[in-house]
Formats: sequence, structure tokens, C-alpha cells
Amino acid sequence: MTAPISELAALLPEGALVTDEATSDAYRHDSASSCAAGRPLGVVRPTTTAEVQAVMRWASRHRVPVVPQGARTGLSGAANAVDGALLVSMVRMDRILEIDEVDQVAIVEPGVVNADLSRAVAAVGLFYPPDPSSWELSTIGGNLATNAGGLCCVKYGVTADFVRGLEVVLADGEVVRVGRRTAKGVAGYDLTRLLVGSEGTLGIITEATLALRPAPEPALTMAAVFAKTADAMTAVTRIMASGMRPSMMEFLDKPSIRAVQAYRDMGLPVDAEAMLITQSDRGPLAAADVAAMGAICEELGASEVAVAEDAVESAMLTQARRLVNPAVEELGATLIDDVAVPRARLVDLLAGMEQIAAATGTFVICPGHIGDGNMHPTVVFDRGDDAAAERAQRAFDAIMRLALDLGGTITGEHGVGLLKRTWLRSELGERSYALQQQIKSVFDPLGILNPGKVL
Ligand SMILES: Cc1cc2nc3c(=O)[nH]c(=O)nc-3n(C[C@H](O)[C@H](O)[C@H](O)COP(=O)(O)OP(=O)(O)OC[C@H]3O[C@@H](n4cnc5c(N)ncnc54)[C@H](O)[C@@H]3O)c2cc1C
Repeated sequence: MTAPISELAALLPEGALVTDEATSDAYRHDSASSCAAGRPLGVVRPTTTAEVQAVMRWASRHRVPVVPQGARTGLSGAANAVDGALLVSMVRMDRILEIDEVDQVAIVEPGVVNADLSRAVAAVGLFYPPDPSSWELSTIGGNLATNAGGLCCVKYGVTADFVRGLEVVLADGEVVRVGRRTAKGVAGYDLTRLLVGSEGTLGIITEATLALRPAPEPALTMAAVFAKTADAMTAVTRIMASGMRPSMMEFLDKPSIRAVQAYRDMGLPVDAEAMLITQSDRGPLAAADVAAMGAICEELGASEVAVAEDAVESAMLTQARRLVNPAVEELGATLIDDVAVPRARLVDLLAGMEQIAAATGTFVICPGHIGDGNMHPTVVFDRGDDAAAERAQRAFDAIMRLALDLGGTITGEHGVGLLKRTWLRSELGERSYALQQQIKSVFDPLGILNPGKVL
């Protein structure tokens, strides 16, 4: 053990710091299979804010880069090790500290798994809406640091919409509390919102105060199958323009349907070009909502419109959507785009994507949170084939260019991380990019927090 590492070990409880190569290796990567990862010094798994402070004071003293980590389900390489970094895995700070039914807030440590929080608040009739497809694995800390979206976001909003306050350990080891517990509050600049989505580059979140809502009624689910993808896109714009607020609106294209069906037999229509899955959770009005959404799909030529008969069928359709990522991973190496465009431009995005796939000779699968205009065109290629990887990268980049040209963004929910870092300037413009660099240097003057990510 080198001198600074033994100094760190002495500051922490027995077992909190692990430096053996096998363990460090296991923590090197998040779930973005195509991003590079460096060789870390070791992994710390703190259990208290004071331990995180000790780590950051030590890191500042010795100018050691630090990479905060949650469950490493991230899809942009943001949690990947950089050479010589200390990885700080927050998964052991996993307590739900309080659920307040009057103020409708939960106070949690960052290592709480999203689905565990959802179940805990549901037990008292409350609801934490942000539900990334990774909800059974990903942590609240990771969700906050990426401003994660999910299936319910089309109606309820993303993680940032449910954050009231944060406790954060800064780069120099000081603790700050930002935000508030109350429903309202406008004192000073909104540092909470700034920290949400900052991908571990501005501070380490050690506690969060999250807003909850009363639990909605169980949702009714409708699935519509289309022979033409453009018709499904038109159905989305018609439904959203009708004034209805579906509580979920997801899209699977033909390759996604086939990938999921091959991964797990769910009776999906493998010959369909496109499938829309929508929900309404408006209690007694839900049946009329899904019937109206179904009627729009039928008018637009859907070959089949089915309403789930019960909660089990409904959960199966939702599960089909959640299984896309693991199913696609089975097909080969992937580069997962995360573009979002105004809903009216979805048709252009899909058409442009097909042209890009043809021009680059690549295979692109396109599922997405279509109600938000947030799609995941995923370039699949053979592992170990350098020429295929180069073509995939060209397709991946061209899709981001297309999204920007359509008035959209390079990332709707996965974040910039390593994967889209070279594109951030194109989206922000020079002045805005420079402002972000200045903000980074205010929070992290030594540049030790998750260096090389985002900016
Ligand atoms: C199958 C699958 C489905 C997915 N579906 C969705 C989806 O529907 N919507 C969506 O938005 N994303 C989705 N993702 C991406 C991923 O799950 C999210 O980005 C998630 O929020 C990451 O959480 P994590 O705990 O795994 O964090 P990690 O991947 O470990 O880290 C993500 C980022 O957060 C930072 N971080 C982690 N904890 C802290 C902390 N306490 N303080 C400061 N920074 C921290 C890391 O440095 C990194 O920058 C999916 C991923 C998979 C594998």
C-alpha cells in the first residue's frame, strides 16, 4: 500500500476501502459497454456522510481524482473509472430515513434502490413517480446525478421535478445542504436543480429530500400494433394534442419487439412494424381514456388494439418495455443514443435514422419514451470488429446531429458522461459551455471530481 492510500485506510472503518485488483476491476465500468475505463486506485464504500467527507479531504490533499458511483447502471460511461481515481461507491448508504405523510416527502440516503423507495412509499399510499427502466437496480443517488427519466415521466415529470433538497459533500470535504423541505421556497439561486444531473462532477450527494404524491389509481394499459411506423408516430402526436395525459406512452419498433420476444417469450407481435404501449391512471376515467387512445390508433390504421384485461396483463406489457435494454445487449455491442426531439418531429427522426442506418451500413434498433419525444436509437454491432465499431460510431454521431437539427437534444435522460462529451459544445454553444466550465471550477477548483466527464 502506498503512503497516501494507507493514510486513507487509517481514516476509514475496517473494510470500507478495498484496493485488491479483482474488486477494483469489478467497479471499473458502468453499463455503457462501449466506453473506456481507466485503472482505479481502489474502491471506498462509505456508510456515513462523515466518511465521505474524510475521503474528499484526503483526495483534495493529495489531488486524487474521485469517481462517485451508484449501481453502475448508467449508460454514458459517467461512472467509469479514470486512471488513478478512487471510486466512491455509495450503495451502502441505503437507508430510507423518513417518510412524511403530511408534507409528502421522503428523506433518503443515496444508495437506496429506486424500486425499494417506490415500494416503501406505496405502503403508506404515496407515490415516487420517477421510474427508470432500471428501477430494480439503479440508486436514487445515480438517478439524481443523471436526472433520470422513466416510463411515468410523460405525465409526472423527471427526477428533478421531485427533488426538494440535498445534502452534498463538496470537493474539499465540506458539507452543504441545498434546497428545502417545504413545498415552496425561492431563497437564492437554485443549487439543488444545478446539482441534479451534474453526473458526480460538482459534489457527492449524501442525502436527498424527495417530493411524493398521493398514489394514483392502478393504470389501465392499451397496446396498439401498426404496420407502418409513421402511423404510430402520428398517433402519438394526435393523442398528445387531444388534451389527454397518458401516464405512460412507450414505443417499440420491429427490431425491439423481436429482440424482447427472443429474450423472453411474451407473445409479442413479431411481424408488427411498431407497437405503442400507453396507460391511463385516472381511476374511473381510465377506461374511457384508453378507449379514446385506441380509437385514435384504429383511425390511423393500427392493425390491432388491445386493452390489458387485468393488472397481470398490464404489468406484462410494461415489463416488455423494461426488458428492451437487456434483450438488445444479447445481440452484440451497442451504442445507445438518447436523443429527444419535439413530438411533431418524431416522424422525421425515425425517417432520418433509417437513412443513417442505410448510409452507414449499420443495424439500428429504436425503442423509446415516445410520449416525451425521447428515443433510444441503438446501434448494434459485432464485438471485436473494428470496422463495424467505426461505422457504428458514425451512425451514433449522425443521429445526435439529426436530433439537434430537428430542434432536440443529444440526451434526454442518460446524461453526457464520456459517451456524448464531444457533442455537448455543439448543443450548448460557446458562451453557455464556458459558463458551465466556470461553474465546474467554482465547485471543484482542483478538478478532482469525476474528471473528464460531461465537460
Ligand atoms: C436496463 C437499463 C434500463 C435503463 N433505463 C433507464 C430509463 O428508463 N431512464 C433513465 O433515465 N435511465 C435509464 N437507464 C440508465 C441508468 O439506469 C440511469 O442513468 C440511473 O440513474 C443510474 O443510476 P445508478 O445508481 O446506476 O448510477 P451510476 O451509473 O453508478 O452513476 C451514474 C452517474 O451518477 C453519479 N453518481 C452516482 N451516485 C452519486 C452520488 N451519490 N452523488 C453524486 N454523483 C453520483 C456517477 O458519478 C455517474 O455520473 C437504464 C439503464 C439500464 C442498464
